[in-house]
Amino acid sequence: MQKIFIKTFGCQMNEYDSNRIFDSVKKIGYQKSENLEEADCYLLNTCHIRDKAKEKVYSEIGRVKKSFRAKKKPLVIIAGCVAQAENQEMLKREPYIDLVIGPQAYHKINETILNHIEKRKKIEQTDFDAVSKFKYFSKIKNEAGKISSFLTIQEGCDKFCHFCVVPYTRGPEYSRPFNQIIEEANYLSDNGAKEIILLGQNVNAYTDNSNSKRLSDLVLEIEKIKDIKRIRYTTSHPNDMTDDLIEVYKVSKKLMPLVHLPVQSGSDRILKLMNRKHKIDHYLKVYDELKKINQSIEFSSDFIIGYPGETEEDFQSTVDLIKKVNFINSYSFIFSPRPGTKAEALDLIDKKTSMERLEFIQNLLSENQTQMNKKLKNRTIDVLVENLTEDKSKAFGRTEYMTSVIFNGKREHIGKIVKVKITNSNRTTLFGELLSNPDQKVA
Ligand code: SAM
Ligand code: SF4
Repeated sequence: MQKIFIKTFGCQMNEYDSNRIFDSVKKIGYQKSENLEEADCYLLNTCHIRDKAKEKVYSEIGRVKKSFRAKKKPLVIIAGCVAQAENQEMLKREPYIDLVIGPQAYHKINETILNHIEKRKKIEQTDFDAVSKFKYFSKIKNEAGKISSFLTIQEGCDKFCHFCVVPYTRGPEYSRPFNQIIEEANYLSDNGAKEIILLGQNVNAYTDNSNSKRLSDLVLEIEKIKDIKRIRYTTSHPNDMTDDLIEVYKVSKKLMPLVHLPVQSGSDRILKLMNRKHKIDHYLKVYDELKKINQSIEFSSDFIIGYPGETEEDFQSTVDLIKKVNFINSYSFIFSPRPGTKAEALDLIDKKTSMERLEFIQNLLSENQTQMNKKLKNRTIDVLVENLTEDKSKAFGRTEYMTSVIFNGKREHIGKIVKVKITNSNRTTLFGELLSNPDQKVA
């Protein structure tokens, strides 16, 4: 057996892909290693969404080189969105790299590795072929074996927001066939999954045209799998929050009440400059409709701060929106110009102003989260137990809103939904005691 060490940067989709790559290379004799030093193959799954993505890859390769200075060089593979964007360039710039493989060509990973070993040739694979990729992977079982497992249902994007590289690195929008997804959900359940997180760059744009199935249909079908207790989806676009998806919140028993719905900015003027194609009014309409269905639904979001042209007034609109919606678990970033996008060449706003604005909204979001967590003190909540803590002394799980909970659980609780009485909290984590008798009344 050869050993493969996979390092993953970026989003949940990359995490899913890394797992699937591992499921594939197992077939040609690789076993997973958690230790870089003993690897025969080193695979870096990269992210291109922000900042110095390219430089991060080369400095990572520098570190690998150092570790193997006195040893036989491993097979070095660059996968993910930087691989897609840079392709041949990477092989030219860094001879230590052997193979470059883009996100829509992972079904070719085994043959690419074998080809390289046989011919000693550097290879670049960056074709967009999502159909063949998912067909290939549907024949290989997803053996993630995690309580909370990712399942990619949709990839790519046709929306072309001016700041975003996704349409260039992941290619056009593609939805997997409905039955293929249900089959994978069943495999995951057979392997111990209790929660499924449906993934896509625009997950709620999911449409299987052959039988007119949408994300709402997927949720209701996956819900039928007995051992799956919770269903989530991410990341959605406000314009794809269709009526059927909103309605599903009325009937679904397993869809979690946290909606991650990136808005990017609270200003219609900036949304227009970003080419987001939605307005704040629409966003708030979706918010109102969901709240009407279930008052306990909460929202989280992504924000881009300091987009070219953002005035103090625009920024204030973002602050107002945050105060109105009371977002939890949100992400915020300073605009980062990405190569090849429309916004790449725009004049940046003053860096200090961007930093100050980012700090302001991050404080606002954090304060909100801290307060919401504090309110849970002495309350009893349902926790899906995912694992033991690293020192094995406690158990770790999540609430319906994805907040981490650490409590006095045991191995036997892993995979179960238990009742935990919250005794303390900080911004990111709740701490509590397992209720031995779930019917016990709490103060
Ligand atoms: N499809 C989702 C949507 O439309 O909202 C977002 C997916 S995108 C891969 C994830 C997040 O990265 C975005 O919501 C955005 O906040 C952030 N992002 C993307 N490009 C960025 C850029 N150039 N600078 C800063 N943040 C960026
Ligand atoms: Fe990127 Fe999302 Fe816009 Fe598509 S909709 S371009 S993934 S931010």
